[in-house]
Amino acid sequence: MSAVTAPVRPHRFFRARVARITDLTPSFRRFTFVGDDLALYGDPGFDQRIKVVFPTEAAGLDAMPTGEDWYAEYRAMPESARPPFRTYTTRGVRREETEVDVDMVSHAILGPASAWIASARPGDEVLLLAPDARYEGEPGGLDFVPPAATGEHLLVGDETAAPAIARILEQLPREATGVVVLEVPDERDCAYLPHHPGFRIYAAGREGSERHEHLTRVVAAHAPILCPDGTGSDVEEIDVDRDPLWEVPRSAKGGAALKSAPLYAWIAGESIAVTTLRRHLVKEIGVDRRAVAFMGYWRQGRAEGS
Ligand SMILES: Cc1cc2nc3c(=O)[nH]c(=O)nc-3n(C[C@H](O)[C@H](O)[C@H](O)COP(=O)(O)OP(=O)(O)OC[C@H]3O[C@@H](n4cnc5c(N)ncnc54)[C@H](O)[C@@H]3O)c2cc1C
Repeated sequence: MSAVTAPVRPHRFFRARVARITDLTPSFRRFTFVGDDLALYGDPGFDQRIKVVFPTEAAGLDAMPTGEDWYAEYRAMPESARPPFRTYTTRGVRREETEVDVDMVSHAILGPASAWIASARPGDEVLLLAPDARYEGEPGGLDFVPPAATGEHLLVGDETAAPAIARILEQLPREATGVVVLEVPDERDCAYLPHHPGFRIYAAGREGSERHEHLTRVVAAHAPILCPDGTGSDVEEIDVDRDPLWEVPRSAKGGAALKSAPLYAWIAGESIAVTTLRRHLVKEIGVDRRAVAFMGYWRQGRAEGS
């Protein structure tokens, strides 16, 4: 009689402990996680999002349901018994060494993730909900899907999107071209992004200026040059208090929505900024909305999932 093996699910929880903490710049702190399990950590690349479960005094990691119906079980738990989780981006994977890097912005302690980031030490444990390397299909959670024939790329984001932008730059071919517009808390954080020979990087610290000011100004200056023949189209207004600010145009098969586009834009960060930029690109500049991915990574004044 042959043993029945359970089918591999697209994602699974990995128990991982902090091996090293590296302060890369004033705001970017790299957590290198290690754990035998990480030999199976799936790495589709680009902006692969993951969940990080943080233990608290009231709710340790063992309280986290990790089976197939984990989310329904989690929602059924009393709130005080649930270990909190937040969304992050895989920054580096070294499966042979069972190591994974996640770069986290260290900002004021405002929620469970920032509290953990400020106090974590080597040896501390988390759970990572990430793709299972054994899964043969597309696991989901990857939102950078440019058309096969993309003229220029426009990557725009705040500090929370910087790890994804860094990974995209590292993984795009050398022949790819485009512009990155990044706003970070401190001028010294601009050094975080890697060099790509085909990309011009406009990164700026936020000191002394309004949040988003750099993003809107630089996108307004460059978008008409990157997309001179846009025809402008209407966009439905999004109520960021009600609707999820997430639109990643895809084909029916899950790939890019278009085969080719003169410009592909990927915009991620604080929801209000992302809405403003998307409206500008689609309505005023006329970028084909099927070539614009926009993702509200976080919302000023609101905790993730609330
Ligand atoms: C797909 C995706 C990928 C992401 N990747 C990364 C990543 O690689 N690295 C990374 O650092 N972050 C990343 N983020 C953002 C991260 O999930 C949020 O910053 C996170 O919610 C912070 O959790 P918290 O517990 O500190 O605050 P929450 O409990 O979520 O919120 C508490 C308060 O803090 C505010 N807040 C949340 N984030 C910030 C911030 N960055 N700056 C200032 N105020 C904030 C909220 O508005 C709220 O008022 C990503 C988000 C998404 C959706």
